[in-house]
Amino acid sequence: ASVVGIDFGNLSSKIGVARHRGIDIITNEVSNRQTPSLVSFTPRQRLIGESAKTAETSNFKNTVGSLKRLIGRSFSDPEIAEYEKKFINAELVDVAGQVGAKVNYLGEPATFSYSQLVGTYLGKLRDTAAAELKQAVSDVVIAVPGWYTDAQRRALMDAAQIAGLNPLRLINDTTAVALGYGITKADLPEDAEKPRHVVFVDVGHSNYSVSVVAFSKGQLTVKSTAYDRNFGGRDFDYALVQHFAKEFDAKYKVDCFSSPKAIFRLTAGCERLKKVLSANAEAVINVESLMNDVDASSTMNREQFEALIAPLLNRFNKPLEEALAKAGLTVDEVDSIELVGGSTRIPAIKERIQAFFGGRQLSFTLNQDEAIARGATFACASLSPVFRVREFAVHDITPYPIQVSWAKEAGNPDEDTELVVFPEGNAIPSTKILTFYRQGPFELDANYAKSENLPKGTNPYLGKFTVKGVEKTAAGDLACVKVKARLNLHGILSFEGAYAVEEVEKEETVTVGEGEDAVEEKKIVKKLQRKGDYQVSAQYNSLPQNVVNDWQEEEGKMHASDKLVMETEERKNALEEYVYDMRSKLEDRYKLYVVPTEKETLLTGLAEAEDWLYTEEGEDATKSAYVAKLDALKKTGDQIALRWRENEERPRAAAALREVC
Ligand code: ATP
Ligand code: MG
Repeated sequence: ASVVGIDFGNLSSKIGVARHRGIDIITNEVSNRQTPSLVSFTPRQRLIGESAKTAETSNFKNTVGSLKRLIGRSFSDPEIAEYEKKFINAELVDVAGQVGAKVNYLGEPATFSYSQLVGTYLGKLRDTAAAELKQAVSDVVIAVPGWYTDAQRRALMDAAQIAGLNPLRLINDTTAVALGYGITKADLPEDAEKPRHVVFVDVGHSNYSVSVVAFSKGQLTVKSTAYDRNFGGRDFDYALVQHFAKEFDAKYKVDCFSSPKAIFRLTAGCERLKKVLSANAEAVINVESLMNDVDASSTMNREQFEALIAPLLNRFNKPLEEALAKAGLTVDEVDSIELVGGSTRIPAIKERIQAFFGGRQLSFTLNQDEAIARGATFACASLSPVFRVREFAVHDITPYPIQVSWAKEAGNPDEDTELVVFPEGNAIPSTKILTFYRQGPFELDANYAKSENLPKGTNPYLGKFTVKGVEKTAAGDLACVKVKARLNLHGILSFEGAYAVEEVEKEETVTVGEGEDAVEEKKIVKKLQRKGDYQVSAQYNSLPQNVVNDWQEEEGKMHASDKLVMETEERKNALEEYVYDMRSKLEDRYKLYVVPTEKETLLTGLAEAEDWLYTEEGEDATKSAYVAKLDALKKTGDQIALRWRENEERPRAAAALREVC
C-alpha cells in the first residue's frame, strides 16, 4: 500500500509521499511541486491540473476552479452568488442538489457536480503520485480546512471514492502543519502540564486559519482554532482588479467588467504585480491586448497596495484574538508563531502578525508551501499498516457544536428534548453514548447547534436516526435505550447503532470489614446489562450511495477516454517522427545498407504516410490506424536498421573477443 498526503489547495495542491528514506514532496509531469487546482473541458478530452492551467486563457469558460470552495455546497447557497461567483468563469448550475458547473465537453453541453469535478481532480493527483511511486495509489490522507462542515467533508469523501481513493483521514490543515512541526522536534517539554504553545497561521489563496497547539513529548493537542474563511490572496487580487479596471477605463476607455476575458487577463496581471510588491517597493502591471486591442499598463507602489487592501487587513487581528481567547492564552504565553501559506509572503501581513504579538520574532521553520502536505503524509504514514513512524498522538477538535433533538416521551414529561452532544472544541474522534427511556420506536435529529460560525447559508441539518422495534420491558417499564453517536476521524457525524440495556439482579460476592475481621458475603446487586441491538436506520445530509457509484463509473469511463486520446496522440506523433527520421537516415546512416528497390518502396511508403497524416482522415484517426501504418513502414525499415546495427556491432564484438583472447 502507498503512503500519500495531499494538501488540497484552492489555487494549487501539493502531494507528499513516504518512502523508506523519509517524506518527499513530489513533482508533477512538468516538474512542478504544485499542481493547479483546475479541470478543463475541451471538444476532445478533459485537461486536469497543469494542462488545464495552460488551456485556461483560451478556454476559461470551460475551465473550472474553486474546487475546494464549492464542493459540498448547494447552488442556492447565497454565499455563492454574493461572493464565490466573482472568482469563477464557468457557468454554475444545480446538479443533484449540489452546486455544479455547466461546460462544453466533447462538443456538447455537459454538467458536473463539484463532487465529480473534485473526483476528477483527485484522480489526476492519484496518477501523479502513482507515476512517482510506480505503484497503484489508494490510501491517502487529505488535508481540509478546519472549518469544513459535515456536508463538505462528506462530499470530499464522495469525491475520493469517485477517484478510487481510500482516505484514511481527512485531517484539518493546520493540524497537519502542527503534526509536521511536532514530529521533527526533539526538544519538546517532557511535562504535558507545561507544554510548548505554538500559534500556526495559514494565509493562502482563499482562506486564513489560525490554530493554537500545545506540544509535549510525543503528542500535540489543538487548543483552539479561528478562521476568516473569505480572506486570502484572491481577495487581494480582486481589490487590485477593481482598482485597475477603473484606472484603465479612464485611461483607455475600456470597460473590463463587460468582458469576462478582460477580467481574466487583468486578474493574472494583478497577481503578478502583487507578488512583485512582496519583494519590491514598486511594481509595473502590463496586460497585453486587455480588450479592444488595448495594451494596458500602469504602476503601483507598496503603500498604495496596502492602502487598497486596508479594509481586508483590518480584519486580520480578529481570528488571532479569537484563537488566543479560546485557548485562554495571552500573547506572552505563546512560545512560537509559525507562518505557512503563499500569502504570508506579503510584508503587510507579516507586519500585522508581528505587531499583534508585540513585535516578537516570527518563525519560518516550516516550508511555507509544503508544510500541510508534509504533515498529511506523516498522518498517512502513521495510519498506514505498511509503515512504521515514530508515535505521535494528535488530539484535534471540532469547531461546530452538534446537537441532537427528539420528541418528548409521553410517559416522561420532565424529559429534555435536546442535548448538545458534541460541544465546540470536542475531541475528534469521539464516541458518545446517549440514554433514552422509551415505550416505542423513536427518532433523533442531529443539527449544528449554532449557525453563526458556519459558512453563511449552511443548512444546519446533519441527519436523522430512527430506532425501531422499541417496546416496554416485560415488567411494563420504559425500555432503556442506548444510542451510540460518533464524530469520526474525518470529523463526520454518524450514529453507529442502538441497543437495549436492562437492570438485572445479580448475586455477587463482596468483602465486608477489614483485615482479620473481613468476611465474604453474598449480596444481591442491581446491574445494567446490555441486551439486544435494535434495528436502526440513518439518513445524513449526503448524496445517495448509488449516485456516487454512478459518478465513479462515469469518471472511470472519462478517464479511459482521456487516456485513449493521449495514447492516440502519442502514436500519431510516433508515426510522424518515424517518417522524418527514416527519410533522413536513408540518406545518411543507412545509405550503404539499402538496395535501390527497397529504398524506393520505403520512400513511397513514407511519402504516403506523410500525405495521409495531412488528410482529414489522418489528422483524426484511431490509435490502431496510426499503429498499423507505423507497423507497415517498419516491416521494411526494421530490416535495414538491423543490417546497419549488425555491421556496427560486428567490429566491436570482434574487438571484445580479441581482448578476451
Ligand atoms: P488555500 O489554502 O486558500 O486553499 P492554496 O493552498 O492553494 O489556497 P497557497 O499555495 O498557500 O494557496 O498560496 C497561494 C496564494 O499565495 C496565491 O493567492 C498567490 O498569489 C499568493 N502568493 C504566492 N506567492 C506570493 C508572493 N510572493 N507575494 C504575495 N502573494 C503570494
Ligand atoms: Mg492552502
